[in-house]
Amino acid sequence: MDDKDLLESLRPIQTKRIMDLVEQAGIDVSKWSFNENGGPVKASPAANYCYEWAFGGDQEPTLLCIWHKSLKASKGQIFFADNLRQLGLDLVRIAENKDQKIRSRANSQSKRARNFDKALITCSQKTQPVRVVLLVGDELPKDDLGLDSSKVKYRWLDPEPWFIHKYQMETGAFRLVRSEPLQTQVPLPIVDSPPDKFIDQFSNFDYPEKRTLTGTVYVRSPEVRESVLKRATGVCEFCGQPGFKTAAGRIYLETHHVIPLEDDGQDKEWNVVAICPNDHRRAHHAEDHEEIKSQLLAILAKHYPSAIPY
Ligand SMILES: [Zn+2]
Ligand SMILES: [Zn+2]
Repeated sequence: MDDKDLLESLRPIQTKRIMDLVEQAGIDVSKWSFNENGGPVKASPAANYCYEWAFGGDQEPTLLCIWHKSLKASKGQIFFADNLRQLGLDLVRIAENKDQKIRSRANSQSKRARNFDKALITCSQKTQPVRVVLLVGDELPKDDLGLDSSKVKYRWLDPEPWFIHKYQMETGAFRLVRSEPLQTQVPLPIVDSPPDKFIDQFSNFDYPEKRTLTGTVYVRSPEVRESVLKRATGVCEFCGQPGFKTAAGRIYLETHHVIPLEDDGQDKEWNVVAICPNDHRRAHHAEDHEEIKSQLLAILAKHYPSAIPY
């Protein structure tokens, strides 16, 4: 089969519900019947998460939704190369000065893109294959964000696993390849980011060599901060907005101990979040700071389901 026929053979031709395909991939869909507060959903459960782009994770398989038209083929290899982290950041930027409706649409799209990106990071660190649902849509005119938009017409769960052949931690660029495990001795095909791509309030902005610390009362591990900043990939873990870019081109967020060090909070990844400066001030001083604290703990609990001993 030549490359064109090979691609054509993967084109979905059936109308399947995403919930059924997610379940078929071995992912528990019982939570689809409940809303965020644990109450039953009013609409059909099948509609609850159907717009997401990434499913599963943790102990379950990871399932990603990909447009069939974005696949490429070369010498018998089918692949999908893209950068969803960049898309997530672009979406927010494009919608910045638009009206509230467009902004909120862009924010939810951006969140889906970043969830897709996070699923890739996790799978590439575990060298785990992913499952793929391929989509075909009815083309619609360019949407409010000037992006191509499509309404899903057909979907299909590819029976073959897909493998991450490249994930560039610094940029988010990746290459997913169908059926072919990566032939390599190196377990982690990750190009690591330079340590100061993401910085926080304890980093020196432009002169990293002139690091001065004054009046340090509590010791903060640079490794913990660095790994938290990497986990956040430049996006506030509380509100989802990207951190600002410094003059030196790095992305700024602030690291915050959810249980404060002075309350015996641990200087560990599972007690530290990377959040935007505004949310950081809120977390300390807002009227509802206790509420924010429990939300931050819930966010951390998702990353470290078994780690938080509080
Ligand atoms: Zn924020
Ligand atoms: Zn703080």
